[in-house]
Amino acid sequence: MVKVAKFGGSSLANTRQFQKVKAIIEADSTRQIVVVSALGKSQVTDDKITDLLYILYAHMKHGVSYADLWQTIAARFMTVKTELGLQFPMEEALGKLYQEIQKETVSEDYLVSRGEYLTALLMSEYLGFTFVDAKEIIRYGYDGKIDYLATASQFQVYRKKYAKILVPGFYGAYPNQQIKLMSRGGSDVTGAILARVAQATLYENWTDVSGILLADPRLIDRPERVSFATYQELQELSFMGANVLHEEAILPVQEVKIPIQIKNTNCPQDPGTLISETAQTTRHNITGIAGKKGYIALVLGKRQMISEIGFLYRAMEIIKNHEIFIEYILSGYDNVAIILPKKEVELSLYQLMAELKATLHLDSLEILEDIALVVVVGRSAGKNVNLSANVLGILGAAGIDVGLVSQSTAELNIVLGVKRSDFAQTIQKLYAGLVKGGDA
Ligand code: ASP
Repeated sequence: MVKVAKFGGSSLANTRQFQKVKAIIEADSTRQIVVVSALGKSQVTDDKITDLLYILYAHMKHGVSYADLWQTIAARFMTVKTELGLQFPMEEALGKLYQEIQKETVSEDYLVSRGEYLTALLMSEYLGFTFVDAKEIIRYGYDGKIDYLATASQFQVYRKKYAKILVPGFYGAYPNQQIKLMSRGGSDVTGAILARVAQATLYENWTDVSGILLADPRLIDRPERVSFATYQELQELSFMGANVLHEEAILPVQEVKIPIQIKNTNCPQDPGTLISETAQTTRHNITGIAGKKGYIALVLGKRQMISEIGFLYRAMEIIKNHEIFIEYILSGYDNVAIILPKKEVELSLYQLMAELKATLHLDSLEILEDIALVVVVGRSAGKNVNLSANVLGILGAAGIDVGLVSQSTAELNIVLGVKRSDFAQTIQKLYAGLVKGGDA
């Protein structure tokens, strides 16, 4: 039995957090592979080391002085080292990095990855685990995709030599050893990849909340915690903006059916949320209500559209040529609504509309601006058949205008397009009606 335990930035914000991590690791000898993010925020006034490193890089590039910024970064690492009485020569490591920055020989990926690298060096000594650089294990092809074969074989090399290893998250390397940084929050992905190649029994993801909440606590007062969720439910929620795990952290473990457990470093006794292939039914069978703002919908109208072969294909091709990502397509008898991220479409919107109109010989083309998407993820247990009726009933009674609705077939996910100004109220009303069974 082996567990991979990944700790996020808030679990590593200062000495006190390091001590909590140590207690967690020592409480279970099967926690043999540890992944860490970079030092994070311990209080509102703190900064995440990763944010500071990005800013440092921008200063360096634009020739702006960064002496103070560097001092802040260095001091965070030095404080943890000194307070924990560690031997690692942090001054030297920082000095070497500072020289590299001054010579401007560092890439952004390399510089930013030093946050996890240095944090991992401190933590490995503190835990008595062997430090293994992610650049030696997490291998990418030149196409930017993870190379599982190379990663698995590299992993085995180290695993055979060392029983307990600690790997920095958030980056890997191309075959030529150049560092490749992942997208923000990527240490979750490192943990998932390692859980997969280690054939772990469990992937523990340690953070600062006791599991997934049914809705955003900034919108809902003390929302319920979800004890069990399926990979698919989680995927849907992460995609729609629920800030749980990095979206790309699910597939690597889902494919080999390794469960993920979200746990709270500050309350390790809390059960957290267990994510696996199937999940138990619950009283209300709702796994989450989440959403994102910042969309527009283009509603293409044409009589008899449904009988025109290749209509949608041609519409999509035009959008593809503008390199715009299509978020959803909702089609009707003689119209289709294509939902696009506003940010991506802003510059080319009028040109795109002109092309759609001319090429597809549309009768009408309407734009719905400032749309927010809200998703209700339900658990497909027979008793949930009324979900869409309930959802629309709740919003109708609240006087919220739902411009677009889409319901998936396999899972009971309902996606709603509402006005941006109705976003918070939509989530509040749905939570009150579906979870609490009453009025908001
Ligand atoms: N430290 C990186 C970030 O802040 C990666 C991570 O935390 O997973 O995005």
